Amino acid sequence: RVVVGTKVDQNHVNWVTAYNMLTGIRFTVSRTNAKMDRDLTDADFEAKHKFSFDITGNELTPSAKYDFKFKDYAPWVFRHLRSTFKLDPADYLVSLTSKYILSELGSPGKSGSFFYFSRDYKYIIKTIHHAEHKFLRKILKDYYNHVQENPNTLLSQFYGLHRVKIPYGRKIHFVVMNNLFPPHRDIHRTFDLKGSTIGRDFKEEELEKNPRATLKDLNWLRRNLSLEFGPTKKKAFVEQMQKDVALLQKLKIMDYSLLVGIHDLERGNEENLRDKTLQVFQPGGEEAEPPGPNMLMRTPSKLENARKAKELRQKIRAQKPIPMEQAMSKMPDELQDPKSSFYFYADDGGFRATHEDETPGEEIYYLGIIDCLTHYSLIKRAEHFFKGMTNQESQISAIPPERYGDRFVRFISGVTKTKEAAEREKAEEAAN
Ligand code: ATP
Ligand code: CA
Ligand code: CA
Repeated sequence: RVVVGTKVDQNHVNWVTAYNMLTGIRFTVSRTNAKMDRDLTDADFEAKHKFSFDITGNELTPSAKYDFKFKDYAPWVFRHLRSTFKLDPADYLVSLTSKYILSELGSPGKSGSFFYFSRDYKYIIKTIHHAEHKFLRKILKDYYNHVQENPNTLLSQFYGLHRVKIPYGRKIHFVVMNNLFPPHRDIHRTFDLKGSTIGRDFKEEELEKNPRATLKDLNWLRRNLSLEFGPTKKKAFVEQMQKDVALLQKLKIMDYSLLVGIHDLERGNEENLRDKTLQVFQPGGEEAEPPGPNMLMRTPSKLENARKAKELRQKIRAQKPIPMEQAMSKMPDELQDPKSSFYFYADDGGFRATHEDETPGEEIYYLGIIDCLTHYSLIKRAEHFFKGMTNQESQISAIPPERYGDRFVRFISGVTKTKEAAEREKAEEAAN
């Protein structure tokens, strides 16, 4: 993983697009937030609003640096989703303000999507294909209902769906979602796991050149790794994954993966790569201070709250894990950083390993199910057909959604075990 990407400044090819994205988000989100909250209606899921921005401004939109068109989809649904995910409306706008430009990860996948981080690294903007955009709108209600019933979902948290178009340019669809990885901790290894082995190998030789690359299933298996969760955490994690995957199967989604970032507490932030390299660009100003925990605390009362929250988190962390339902009812709401009220993101933004006796382990996992907007369409069927001619079906990644999900759950649950359990299994194998 390229930790920070390149900063998007005025010389960057995507500067205008990125600037317009942020300007549009800022305008549309403030516009919706300014209204009195209300319950959702069916029409809210279909809603779309178009705005024209220009350098002079007009009665509807303020003046902008560039001329562009912006479309906002289902604003009320996303407002409610942001609230379910406990985002502070003002913080969201500050993070995405156009005064502070993003950093671009470029296009790490094969899909051609671009990824941008907000300046404080909390949010990711991902450009998506028109088909993915249409699909998200189609499943929005199912997703919304699922999230209401499962606030601890492992699925990507979607905060906004928008479209931007510059004159003579093409239409660019994008989503705003959670960055699974923390701003303040080094991630020592990243894996993108699907439960398939074909094409799921990152060349180990390449790791030297790019030590932060995202590794895949075969690299995971080769290293004999597990997600080291003791009984309580394993149960909560596997059950939530099963519920989330059941939704993806119902909606005929596939090709998603479990993204896992591992922070090794013993290594800590030794390299501190991000703090050294990340520069945040402020147009017309100097370099802003690098984002980090300090940036989250702007007022004395926030500082005080953050300190209390930290103490509370430390107390909670020293204790043995409690089941998810119980943990949720225990957390006083006003004290903490929003992430910590979600079971799988409660240990400093991640989910800490535990031993068999449920004492805390040495790693923090930052994980979630990503890339879940691929519908099992004709294209996938064609891929299935072609790959199926040469490979065993159980091994190819383009199998139908039902089996894709079953295989995914089987693989991930299979590698979810404590060090002690893994050693026991190894000993048993050797004995046989
Ligand atoms: P493809 O379809 O080829 O798999 P894609 O363009 O749809 O690629 P994703 O699979 O969504 O891209 O993500 C590519 C990479 O970007 C991931 O492996 C991960 O390193 C990073 N990434 C994606 N989503 C997140 C997220 N929510 N938090 C942190 N990193 C992410
Ligand atoms: Ca992917
Ligand atoms: Ca994809």
